[in-house]
Amino acid sequence: MANTPVTISLSACPICQQNTLYQTPHTCTDYVTKHTFTLLKCQACGCYITQGLSQLPSADYYGTAYYNSKAGKFSPLIETIFRFNHKRNARFFYQHFHPKTILEIGCGRAYILRELKQLGVQVYCLESAGAAEWILQNKEVNVVSLSTEQENGWPFEPEFFQLIVFWHVFEHLSDPITALEQATQVLEKGKVLCISVPNVSSFQAQLGLATWFHLDVPRHLFHFSKNGLIELLEKHDYEIIKVTSGDAIQNLFGWFQSLANLFTPSATNTLYRFLQGGTPWRTAAKLPLLIQVLTAIIWVPMGLIGYVIEEVTGRYGTVTVFAKKK
Ligand SMILES: [Zn+2]
Repeated sequence: MANTPVTISLSACPICQQNTLYQTPHTCTDYVTKHTFTLLKCQACGCYITQGLSQLPSADYYGTAYYNSKAGKFSPLIETIFRFNHKRNARFFYQHFHPKTILEIGCGRAYILRELKQLGVQVYCLESAGAAEWILQNKEVNVVSLSTEQENGWPFEPEFFQLIVFWHVFEHLSDPITALEQATQVLEKGKVLCISVPNVSSFQAQLGLATWFHLDVPRHLFHFSKNGLIELLEKHDYEIIKVTSGDAIQNLFGWFQSLANLFTPSATNTLYRFLQGGTPWRTAAKLPLLIQVLTAIIWVPMGLIGYVIEEVTGRYGTVTVFAKKK
Protein backbone atom coordinates (compact mmCIF):
# COMPACT_ATOMS: atom_id res chain seq x y z
CA MET A 1 0.00 0.00 0.00
CA ALA A 2 1.73 3.18 -1.16
CA ASN A 3 1.55 6.28 1.01
CA THR A 4 2.07 9.94 0.29
CA PRO A 5 5.57 10.70 1.49
CA VAL A 6 5.74 13.01 4.47
CA THR A 7 8.57 14.34 6.55
CA ILE A 8 8.32 12.76 9.95
CA SER A 9 9.21 15.05 12.83
CA LEU A 10 9.65 13.08 15.98
CA SER A 11 10.73 13.29 19.55
CA ALA A 12 9.81 9.78 20.75
CA CYS A 13 10.23 6.57 18.74
CA PRO A 14 6.85 5.65 17.21
CA ILE A 15 7.65 1.95 17.62
CA CYS A 16 8.64 1.77 21.30
CA GLN A 17 7.72 5.27 22.57
CA GLN A 18 11.16 5.80 24.15
CA ASN A 19 12.97 9.13 23.83
CA THR A 20 15.98 7.43 22.35
CA LEU A 21 16.01 8.59 18.72
CA TYR A 22 19.15 10.02 17.21
CA GLN A 23 20.25 11.10 13.74
CA THR A 24 22.63 8.60 12.14
CA PRO A 25 25.40 9.72 9.76
CA HIS A 26 24.04 7.55 6.90
CA THR A 27 23.13 9.23 3.63
CA CYS A 28 21.07 6.81 1.53
CA THR A 29 20.29 7.28 -2.16
CA ASP A 30 17.11 6.05 -3.83
CA TYR A 31 18.32 3.92 -6.73
CA VAL A 32 15.26 4.96 -8.79
CA THR A 33 15.16 8.77 -8.39
CA LYS A 34 18.72 9.37 -7.03
CA HIS A 35 17.24 11.48 -4.22
CA THR A 36 19.00 11.20 -0.89
CA PHE A 37 17.56 10.46 2.53
CA THR A 38 18.85 10.18 6.05
CA LEU A 39 18.00 7.80 8.87
CA LEU A 40 17.02 8.21 12.50
CA LYS A 41 17.83 5.31 14.79
CA CYS A 42 16.15 4.32 18.02
CA GLN A 43 18.69 3.15 20.54
CA ALA A 44 16.06 1.29 22.57
CA CYS A 45 14.36 -0.91 19.94
CA GLY A 46 16.98 -0.83 17.17
CA CYS A 47 14.54 0.42 14.51
CA TYR A 48 15.42 3.09 11.92
CA ILE A 49 13.16 5.74 10.38
CA THR A 50 13.59 7.30 6.93
CA GLN A 51 13.89 11.09 6.96
CA GLY A 52 13.62 13.77 4.25
CA LEU A 53 10.58 12.53 2.40
CA SER A 54 8.89 15.67 1.13
CA GLN A 55 10.70 15.87 -2.20
CA LEU A 56 8.26 14.14 -4.55
CA PRO A 57 4.70 12.78 -4.70
CA SER A 58 4.64 9.05 -3.97
CA ALA A 59 3.73 8.22 -7.58
CA ASP A 60 7.27 9.21 -8.57
CA TYR A 61 8.78 6.83 -6.05
CA TYR A 62 6.40 4.01 -6.97
CA GLY A 63 6.37 4.58 -10.74
CA THR A 64 7.07 2.10 -13.54
CA ALA A 65 10.81 2.33 -12.87
CA TYR A 66 9.99 0.55 -9.60
CA TYR A 67 6.87 -1.58 -10.23
CA ASN A 68 7.29 -2.38 -13.91
CA SER A 69 3.69 -3.29 -14.92
CA LYS A 70 0.62 -5.27 -13.99
CA ALA A 71 2.06 -8.21 -15.91
CA GLY A 72 4.69 -8.47 -13.23
CA LYS A 73 7.39 -6.69 -11.31
CA PHE A 74 10.06 -8.88 -12.89
CA SER A 75 11.07 -10.53 -16.14
CA PRO A 76 8.99 -13.68 -16.87
CA LEU A 77 11.43 -16.22 -15.39
CA ILE A 78 11.92 -14.30 -12.13
CA GLU A 79 8.18 -13.59 -11.97
CA THR A 80 7.52 -17.34 -12.15
CA ILE A 81 9.87 -17.95 -9.21
CA PHE A 82 8.22 -15.07 -7.31
CA ARG A 83 4.75 -16.51 -7.93
CA PHE A 84 5.84 -20.00 -6.92
CA ASN A 85 7.29 -18.58 -3.70
CA HIS A 86 4.03 -16.80 -2.85
CA LYS A 87 1.99 -19.93 -3.55
CA ARG A 88 4.23 -21.80 -1.12
CA ASN A 89 3.64 -19.07 1.49
CA ALA A 90 -0.11 -19.33 0.92
CA ARG A 91 -0.08 -23.09 1.45
CA PHE A 92 1.94 -22.59 4.65
CA PHE A 93 -0.73 -20.20 5.94
CA TYR A 94 -3.47 -22.65 5.06
CA GLN A 95 -1.84 -25.73 6.57
CA HIS A 96 -0.87 -24.03 9.83
CA PHE A 97 -3.83 -21.76 10.56
CA HIS A 98 -6.82 -23.06 8.52
CA PRO A 99 -8.37 -19.57 8.23
CA LYS A 100 -11.89 -19.16 6.85
CA THR A 101 -11.25 -15.47 6.22
CA ILE A 102 -7.99 -13.68 5.44
CA LEU A 103 -7.10 -10.03 5.03
CA GLU A 104 -3.88 -9.09 3.28
CA ILE A 105 -2.77 -5.49 3.55
CA GLY A 106 -1.40 -4.47 0.15
CA CYS A 107 -1.62 -7.50 -2.11
CA GLY A 108 0.03 -6.33 -5.37
CA ARG A 109 -0.55 -9.07 -7.91
CA ALA A 110 -2.37 -11.08 -5.17
CA TYR A 111 -0.52 -14.37 -5.60
CA ILE A 112 -1.01 -15.31 -1.94
CA LEU A 113 -4.72 -14.50 -1.94
CA ARG A 114 -5.48 -16.16 -5.27
CA GLU A 115 -3.92 -19.39 -4.03
CA LEU A 116 -5.87 -19.23 -0.74
CA LYS A 117 -9.09 -18.54 -2.61
CA GLN A 118 -8.58 -21.76 -4.55
CA LEU A 119 -8.28 -23.53 -1.21
CA GLY A 120 -11.70 -22.19 -0.23
CA VAL A 121 -10.68 -19.24 1.96
CA GLN A 122 -12.66 -15.98 1.81
CA VAL A 123 -9.98 -13.52 0.72
CA TYR A 124 -9.84 -9.73 1.12
CA CYS A 125 -7.17 -7.19 0.26
CA LEU A 126 -6.87 -3.71 1.72
CA GLU A 127 -5.18 -1.12 -0.49
CA SER A 128 -4.76 2.63 -0.28
CA ALA A 129 -7.14 4.51 -2.58
CA GLY A 130 -4.08 5.80 -4.43
CA ALA A 131 -2.90 2.32 -5.47
CA ALA A 132 -2.54 1.48 -9.16
CA GLU A 133 -5.80 0.90 -11.00
CA TRP A 134 -4.91 -2.66 -12.00
CA ILE A 135 -4.53 -3.52 -8.30
CA LEU A 136 -7.79 -1.86 -7.22
CA GLN A 137 -9.76 -3.46 -10.05
CA ASN A 138 -8.84 -7.05 -9.20
CA LYS A 139 -12.31 -8.55 -8.73
CA GLU A 140 -10.92 -11.96 -7.77
CA VAL A 141 -9.76 -11.03 -4.28
CA ASN A 142 -12.24 -8.46 -2.91
CA VAL A 143 -9.98 -5.42 -3.00
CA VAL A 144 -11.15 -2.74 -0.58
CA SER A 145 -9.59 0.67 -1.15
CA LEU A 146 -8.93 2.83 1.86
CA SER A 147 -8.94 6.62 1.72
CA THR A 148 -6.67 8.65 4.00
CA GLU A 149 -9.71 9.59 6.13
CA GLN A 150 -10.52 5.92 6.75
CA GLU A 151 -7.08 5.03 8.10
CA ASN A 152 -8.39 5.24 11.67
CA GLY A 153 -11.40 3.05 10.95
CA TRP A 154 -11.09 0.14 8.57
CA PRO A 155 -14.39 -0.75 6.88
CA PHE A 156 -14.78 -4.28 8.29
CA GLU A 157 -16.78 -5.83 11.13
CA PRO A 158 -14.79 -6.21 14.39
CA GLU A 159 -13.07 -9.60 14.66
CA PHE A 160 -14.13 -10.57 11.11
CA PHE A 161 -10.79 -12.08 10.03
CA GLN A 162 -9.09 -15.29 11.11
CA LEU A 163 -5.72 -14.38 9.59
CA ILE A 164 -4.22 -10.99 8.77
CA VAL A 165 -1.04 -10.66 6.74
CA PHE A 166 1.33 -7.76 6.15
CA TRP A 167 3.74 -9.31 3.64
CA HIS A 168 6.56 -6.81 3.04
CA VAL A 169 4.10 -3.95 3.43
CA PHE A 170 4.39 -2.86 7.09
CA GLU A 171 7.68 -1.03 6.38
CA HIS A 172 5.98 1.00 3.61
CA LEU A 173 3.26 2.50 5.85
CA SER A 174 3.52 6.08 7.12
CA ASP A 175 1.70 5.07 10.31
CA PRO A 176 2.30 1.36 10.99
CA ILE A 177 1.11 1.67 14.59
CA THR A 178 -2.38 2.82 13.58
CA ALA A 179 -2.46 0.06 10.96
CA LEU A 180 -1.54 -2.49 13.63
CA GLU A 181 -4.29 -1.17 15.93
CA GLN A 182 -6.84 -1.35 13.11
CA ALA A 183 -5.74 -4.86 12.18
CA THR A 184 -6.11 -5.92 15.81
CA GLN A 185 -9.70 -4.67 15.87
CA VAL A 186 -10.74 -6.70 12.85
CA LEU A 187 -8.82 -9.86 13.85
CA GLU A 188 -10.67 -12.56 15.77
CA LYS A 189 -9.42 -13.20 19.31
CA GLY A 190 -7.01 -16.16 19.41
CA LYS A 191 -6.24 -15.85 15.69
CA VAL A 192 -2.99 -14.98 13.98
CA LEU A 193 -1.37 -11.85 12.62
CA CYS A 194 1.63 -12.33 10.33
CA ILE A 195 4.12 -9.55 9.62
CA SER A 196 7.09 -10.06 7.31
CA VAL A 197 9.61 -7.23 6.93
CA PRO A 198 13.28 -6.65 6.11
CA ASN A 199 15.35 -7.04 9.27
CA VAL A 200 17.59 -4.03 9.90
CA SER A 201 19.39 -5.95 12.65
CA SER A 202 20.51 -8.62 10.15
CA PHE A 203 24.17 -9.05 9.28
CA GLN A 204 23.57 -8.09 5.63
CA ALA A 205 22.05 -4.76 6.75
CA GLN A 206 24.82 -3.99 9.18
CA LEU A 207 27.42 -4.72 6.48
CA GLY A 208 26.59 -1.33 4.92
CA LEU A 209 23.23 0.19 5.68
CA ALA A 210 23.28 2.77 2.86
CA THR A 211 23.90 0.08 0.21
CA TRP A 212 21.72 -2.66 1.79
CA PHE A 213 19.35 -3.98 -0.86
CA HIS A 214 16.34 -4.17 1.47
CA LEU A 215 16.73 -0.60 2.81
CA ASP A 216 14.85 0.64 -0.27
CA VAL A 217 14.41 4.28 0.80
CA PRO A 218 12.15 6.17 0.47
CA ARG A 219 9.56 3.44 -0.15
CA HIS A 220 10.51 1.87 3.17
CA LEU A 221 9.68 4.43 5.83
CA PHE A 222 10.37 2.27 8.88
CA HIS A 223 13.18 -0.27 9.15
CA PHE A 224 12.36 -2.78 11.87
CA SER A 225 14.80 -4.78 13.93
CA LYS A 226 13.72 -8.32 14.73
CA ASN A 227 13.49 -7.56 18.45
CA GLY A 228 11.80 -4.21 17.88
CA LEU A 229 9.03 -5.87 15.88
CA ILE A 230 8.57 -8.62 18.46
CA GLU A 231 8.39 -6.07 21.31
CA LEU A 232 5.89 -3.97 19.36
CA LEU A 233 3.54 -6.94 18.93
CA GLU A 234 3.90 -8.00 22.56
CA LYS A 235 3.05 -4.47 23.66
CA HIS A 236 -0.13 -4.67 21.57
CA ASP A 237 -1.23 -7.80 23.42
CA TYR A 238 -0.04 -10.45 21.03
CA GLU A 239 1.59 -13.73 21.97
CA ILE A 240 4.50 -14.52 19.64
CA ILE A 241 4.03 -18.03 18.31
CA LYS A 242 6.68 -18.27 15.60
CA VAL A 243 9.59 -16.19 14.32
CA THR A 244 11.20 -17.32 11.06
CA SER A 245 13.48 -16.07 8.33
CA GLY A 246 10.41 -16.32 6.15
CA ASP A 247 11.74 -15.92 2.70
CA ALA A 248 14.94 -17.66 1.56
CA ILE A 249 14.97 -15.94 -1.84
CA GLN A 250 14.69 -12.46 -0.31
CA ASN A 251 17.41 -13.27 2.22
CA LEU A 252 19.86 -14.76 -0.26
CA PHE A 253 19.28 -12.12 -2.91
CA GLY A 254 19.64 -9.49 -0.17
CA TRP A 255 23.18 -10.76 0.41
CA PHE A 256 24.10 -10.98 -3.27
CA GLN A 257 22.82 -7.53 -4.22
CA SER A 258 24.09 -5.79 -1.07
CA LEU A 259 27.59 -7.22 -1.60
CA ALA A 260 27.53 -6.39 -5.33
CA ASN A 261 26.47 -2.82 -4.41
CA LEU A 262 29.75 -2.36 -2.51
CA PHE A 263 31.54 -2.45 -5.90
CA THR A 264 29.27 0.23 -7.43
CA PRO A 265 28.10 2.30 -4.45
CA SER A 266 26.83 5.16 -6.64
CA ALA A 267 24.68 2.83 -8.80
CA THR A 268 23.07 0.34 -6.46
CA ASN A 269 20.67 -2.54 -7.25
CA THR A 270 21.68 -2.74 -10.91
CA LEU A 271 21.55 -6.52 -10.89
CA TYR A 272 18.02 -6.31 -9.47
CA ARG A 273 16.94 -3.88 -12.21
CA PHE A 274 18.38 -6.22 -14.81
CA LEU A 275 16.33 -9.09 -13.35
CA GLN A 276 13.23 -6.87 -13.34
CA GLY A 277 13.63 -6.14 -17.05
CA GLY A 278 11.22 -3.66 -18.70
CA THR A 279 11.34 -0.01 -17.66
CA PRO A 280 13.48 -0.58 -14.53
CA TRP A 281 16.22 -2.04 -16.70
CA ARG A 282 15.82 0.39 -19.61
CA THR A 283 16.28 3.35 -17.26
CA ALA A 284 19.32 1.88 -15.46
CA ALA A 285 22.99 2.65 -16.15
CA LYS A 286 24.60 -0.31 -17.95
CA LEU A 287 28.28 -0.13 -16.90
CA PRO A 288 27.52 -0.90 -13.22
CA LEU A 289 25.87 -4.16 -14.31
CA LEU A 290 29.07 -5.25 -15.99
CA ILE A 291 30.99 -4.50 -12.77
CA GLN A 292 28.39 -6.27 -10.64
CA VAL A 293 28.47 -9.34 -12.90
CA LEU A 294 32.27 -9.49 -13.06
CA THR A 295 32.54 -9.29 -9.27
CA ALA A 296 30.12 -12.22 -8.85
CA ILE A 297 33.15 -14.42 -8.33
CA ILE A 298 33.61 -12.61 -5.00
CA TRP A 299 30.03 -11.89 -3.89
CA VAL A 300 28.47 -15.26 -4.70
CA PRO A 301 30.63 -17.29 -2.27
CA MET A 302 30.60 -14.49 0.33
CA GLY A 303 26.82 -14.20 0.03
CA LEU A 304 26.32 -17.93 0.47
CA ILE A 305 28.47 -17.92 3.61
CA GLY A 306 26.62 -14.85 4.93
CA TYR A 307 23.28 -16.50 4.24
CA VAL A 308 24.23 -19.63 6.20
CA ILE A 309 25.55 -17.55 9.12
CA GLU A 310 22.27 -15.58 9.23
CA GLU A 311 20.19 -18.76 9.18
CA VAL A 312 22.22 -20.26 12.02
CA THR A 313 22.28 -17.15 14.20
CA GLY A 314 18.72 -15.96 13.50
CA ARG A 315 19.86 -12.58 12.16
CA TYR A 316 18.29 -13.11 8.71
CA GLY A 317 17.84 -10.40 6.08
CA THR A 318 14.07 -10.56 6.37
CA VAL A 319 12.04 -11.69 9.35
CA THR A 320 8.51 -13.07 9.63
CA VAL A 321 6.65 -12.96 12.92
CA PHE A 322 3.47 -14.90 13.62
CA ALA A 323 1.59 -13.60 16.64
CA LYS A 324 -1.67 -14.65 18.24
CA LYS A 325 -4.16 -12.03 19.44
CA LYS A 326 -4.73 -12.57 23.18
ZN1 LIG B 1 12.21 2.52 19.45
